[in-house]
Amino acid sequence: MSKINLKKAHFATLCVHGAGDVDQATGALSIPIYQSSTFAFKSAKHGANIFSGEEEGYVYTRIGNPTQEAFEREMAFLEGGEAALAFGSGMAAISSVILSYCQAGDNFVSNNTLYGGTHSLFVDTLPRFNIHAREIDSTNLENIISAIDDKTRLIYIETPANPTLTITDLKEVGEIAKKHNIPLVVDNTFPTPYFQRPLELGADVVVHSATKYIGGHGDTVAGIVVGKKEYIDDLRGNFLRDLGGIISPLNAWLLVRGLKTLAIRMERHQNNAVKIAKYLQFHPKVKQVWYPGLTTHPQHDIANKQMSGYGGMIAFEIKGGKKAGEKLMNSIQLFTLAVSLGDVDSLIEHPASMTHSTYSPEELAEVGISETLVRLSVGIEDPHDLIDDLSLALRKINV
Ligand SMILES: *Cc1c(COP(=O)(O)O)cnc(C)c1O
Repeated sequence: MSKINLKKAHFATLCVHGAGDVDQATGALSIPIYQSSTFAFKSAKHGANIFSGEEEGYVYTRIGNPTQEAFEREMAFLEGGEAALAFGSGMAAISSVILSYCQAGDNFVSNNTLYGGTHSLFVDTLPRFNIHAREIDSTNLENIISAIDDKTRLIYIETPANPTLTITDLKEVGEIAKKHNIPLVVDNTFPTPYFQRPLELGADVVVHSATKYIGGHGDTVAGIVVGKKEYIDDLRGNFLRDLGGIISPLNAWLLVRGLKTLAIRMERHQNNAVKIAKYLQFHPKVKQVWYPGLTTHPQHDIANKQMSGYGGMIAFEIKGGKKAGEKLMNSIQLFTLAVSLGDVDSLIEHPASMTHSTYSPEELAEVGISETLVRLSVGIEDPHDLIDDLSLALRKINV
């Protein structure tokens, strides 16, 4: 199928040329949006053979759809995994993965700085099924080891973590997981496979909110899981099919298109973020900046070891308390005051009252999400304009 030897090609080429697909039925270079819920069988025998597994073929879009599969092939390819499975949201992907490993009475270990929805799933929803997350500070590996017992079914790590960009050493955690014979699942939403490839560092499964950088344009909500074929087949057959959290063909198509520019977008997000992080670091009204690319980041060395770049997310604390933060967010103009991230547009938000409002005040304090912490998703605009915008908004704050 492939036109060139993609084994030797670089990542940006892989993004554009993808898994080498053109549409098998028509030769269309852009995969068609197969907007169909059901697929006709050629005969009664054909239908029965597909159901029994003797023949391959499409049945019903909850069970499989060519546009969805094109997105899955591409993501498996870019993450360096055997197979992938798309979901209707990042949360559908994450919840299905946890349920695929855990039964009532089981537990799993995760880092304690997580996307707010993931934290809510872990501490509010899963306990209803007697499945318990042990959220610990994973920057200290001893915490992970001592949280594992004979009912621990997986280790779940988000790195860099949302919103404080805390980084966990994936190679070390991968070794701990292997020693205990449990899988390591990594949320790779922030870095994307362009900057971090967890499967090569020892992870077994990668999950994404594809809503973010994978789609990249703020127009699609979706999730993806990448791993071994045997695992993905089980997830598809028993969790996607039965729990039903599927992606639509249109959204799968938007993600295939988004992936073509992943490399060029991530480069620009990062270049802009590096400039903004350095600008904020020395701003008199800024107390502290969290960006993995700054030498002041507590896990800067681990970032250098396991990531090929630092990404486009920045968190910073401003002086002058919560009022100053509100003033900043109400004054800024190019940055849109909105949650989500990874869009071509720059976004600004307040984790404590927005994305991480699922954390209790005590939990917020424990993971270092203060009332004055502001999160930026740096877009691909001209960096001069973004810095001018921040500069004007910061000028309006009294500290
Ligand atoms: C947004 C996000 C999620 C949840 O994904 P949805 O697509 O919103 O369901 C999970 N993890 C991280 C790191 C996120 O930023």
